Amino acid sequence: VKAEGRNALRVFDNELDAIVQARRMLEADLRSALSLGQFELFYQPVVDLQSGAVRSVEALLRWRHPVRGMVGPAEFIPLLEESGLINPVGDWVIEQACRDAVAMPGEVRVAVNVSPVQLRNRSLLGVVSPVLARTGLDPRRLDLEVTESILLERDAALLDDLRKLRDLGTQIVLDDFGTGYSSLSYIRMFPFDKLKIDKTFVDDLGRSDEADAVICAVIGLTKSLEIVSTAEGIETEDQAILLRAAGCMLGQGYLFGRPVPLAELCFEPRDVIRA
Ligand code: C2E
Ligand code: CA
Ligand code: CA
Ligand code: CA
Repeated sequence: VKAEGRNALRVFDNELDAIVQARRMLEADLRSALSLGQFELFYQPVVDLQSGAVRSVEALLRWRHPVRGMVGPAEFIPLLEESGLINPVGDWVIEQACRDAVAMPGEVRVAVNVSPVQLRNRSLLGVVSPVLARTGLDPRRLDLEVTESILLERDAALLDDLRKLRDLGTQIVLDDFGTGYSSLSYIRMFPFDKLKIDKTFVDDLGRSDEADAVICAVIGLTKSLEIVSTAEGIETEDQAILLRAAGCMLGQGYLFGRPVPLAELCFEPRDVIRA
């Protein structure tokens, strides 16, 4: 029994080694991914739940790995954040998204995700304004998606940058609402333009009266704060209808379109919601 236990431990040890090894290799590959041009942006439409018009597209990072194929951000964003590589990669994302947006229909905005690590010890305005100047993108066509963790840090310089960007017409979006601390008092600390209700709430829609009540309360809150509400991860027509009835303004999800390369992006209004 004792020997067996030791063997099991050795197997476990080897597996752990393998995981650590795989992670190291991934990290090493990540270091050269940017200079090798292996990152790509996919875009997913965000539609007006009333009219079906495409209002914006969210840029979502993909890594075309030579051996592993297309790798999703959940697998490598944490590694980028831990290694600090998120700064150069994040700068590239902002620049590429703005460049791509210039070629999109003029009424469509582009939304870029910004990691809290990217906002630490550097000026967001200092990164974004030269990009706007270089690409010629109207700042009123840019959305920056941040998570509420930036509010917890109470970084006065960052809040000042966000205010200045807002003055230029760039909109600040509170992403993944409902997944973090989400103390309602935090969302008063900064005047966001838009709030994205996390997919987990959308998944629960129609399953219980309580779940529906929570989402209705959030949408009611956005209305009284004059924030535009967006629901993420809409997969069914029923979810879209419920959200629209609750007063949610914008929707994003596979129902309206999956993230696709720029060349495959369709800007035609979505006609998927029953009258
Ligand atoms: P997110 O910002 O919440 O982005 C939405 C995620 O939900 C995307 O996953 C999108 O593909 C997925 N999604 C959209 N609609 C549906 C749906 O109807 N059903 C389901 N099951 N999923 C849906 P993705 O592209 O894998 O990105 C995951 C996360 O990685 C993003 O979550 C964001 O936090 C992060 N991320 C992506 N691109 C970037 C980037 O350029 N910079 C940073 N810092 N983070 C990024
Ligand atoms: Ca987002
Ligand atoms: Ca989100
Ligand atoms: Ca999410």
